[in-house]
Amino acid sequence: MSIAKGDLHAALKKYFGFSKFKGLQEDVVESILSGNHTFVIMPTGGGKSLCYQLPALMQEGTAIVVSPLIALMKNQVDAIRGVSNEEGIAHVLNSSLNKTEVKRVKEDIIKGITKLLYVAPESLTKEENVDFLRSVKVSFMAIDEAHCISEWGHDFRPEYRNLKNIIGRIGDNIPIIGLTATATPKVQEDIIKNLGITGAKTFKASFNRPNLYYEVRPKTKNVDADIIRFIKQHEGKSGIVYCLSRKRVEELAQVLQVNGIKAVPYHAGLDAKSRSNHQDKFLMEDIDVVVATIAFGMGIDKPDVRFVIHHDIPKSIESYYQETGRAGRDGGEGHCLAYYSYKDIEKLEKFMSGKPVAEQEIGQALLQEVVAFAETSISRRKFILHYFGEEFDNETGEGGDMDDNIRHPKKKHEAKDEAVI
Ligand code: ADP
Ligand code: MG
Repeated sequence: MSIAKGDLHAALKKYFGFSKFKGLQEDVVESILSGNHTFVIMPTGGGKSLCYQLPALMQEGTAIVVSPLIALMKNQVDAIRGVSNEEGIAHVLNSSLNKTEVKRVKEDIIKGITKLLYVAPESLTKEENVDFLRSVKVSFMAIDEAHCISEWGHDFRPEYRNLKNIIGRIGDNIPIIGLTATATPKVQEDIIKNLGITGAKTFKASFNRPNLYYEVRPKTKNVDADIIRFIKQHEGKSGIVYCLSRKRVEELAQVLQVNGIKAVPYHAGLDAKSRSNHQDKFLMEDIDVVVATIAFGMGIDKPDVRFVIHHDIPKSIESYYQETGRAGRDGGEGHCLAYYSYKDIEKLEKFMSGKPVAEQEIGQALLQEVVAFAETSISRRKFILHYFGEEFDNETGEGGDMDDNIRHPKKKHEAKDEAVI
């Protein structure tokens, strides 16, 4: 299919109200419209959804979008329906639908109204769904959060492993689009291999976040006091403090409150009402700081988070990147401060000891990278980007001096000596 540039921009405007494509979006859309297998690697917030939504809306047939989270699918469907007067333009097909609802979805697809059909991978294991999809016109398959296919990703889901097989049963020559924010070369290889899309047109955006300042401090017994001091130096600014355990989250939130900081706890052990209440307070700026486990952050889009503190070092560079990535979304200041002690690494190792051996090995390898990152004396940005398979020269690259190692070089051994807990 050949589509003039002007048509693409007109469609972008018509369906999304945007006048410009972001980053590599236009190239990706063109690749999909040309029927190529396509692989898209862009950081969170990079605008991956539009990459498949726009070509789906422009083409005949229904694009099937595989996504792991029902909540995410619902949001996307609502957003698409919002830009169109046709409710049937996007649907979700999953086990929560009753018979009448399923019938309606199928009718809309048959009529050719439905351009986007969101499914969980589980739904595709159902014979009747596969049979139905085989009988209709499918424009392409988009596999969102494609890293779920890899054991090296942070969210492995065995059902994703079957996708290639199922797609083959839905039809021959269906273009496959994989999308992920996970940039490690290992995960990418897994995705390409498991989806069977060798030779896919690959689009990879830079993962550099030049406005983020990276700093690692040794974790001493004074860590709480240090955090309080840091937060007070950023008075009135929004920030997130990540801790490993719910207990620590509760304790630290209290310590901060006692010290006059407007802070709330957030973790999966709190009831849904408190969680949404605390999240709202953060978004509305009634409070400044959320002390949280990793349960906090997915889908939270507060542009002016000015600092992200890791009270405990995360279990992989990926997690670190995702979590620190919530700072400075608006392009303004974003200070990322992590406290590191080797004792915490040992704790994380202990957590893994009950898991299957293969999982432990992967966990170990990911942890070793975290150790290397924490202890490195080279540019932290260079380290992170190298981990993601990206060359970065901190002498010339954007944000090249934005970390403690470059601004305040110190001898390697110091950090280790200071760490006592
Ligand atoms: P990702 O899936 O890569 O994390 P999303 O698809 O959720 O990112 O998009 C992130 C944000 O960027 C959304 O709010 C979306 O509306 C916005 N966005 C996407 N494309 C554009 C564009 N071309 N112009 C302006 N905003 C865009
Ligand atoms: Mg996305």
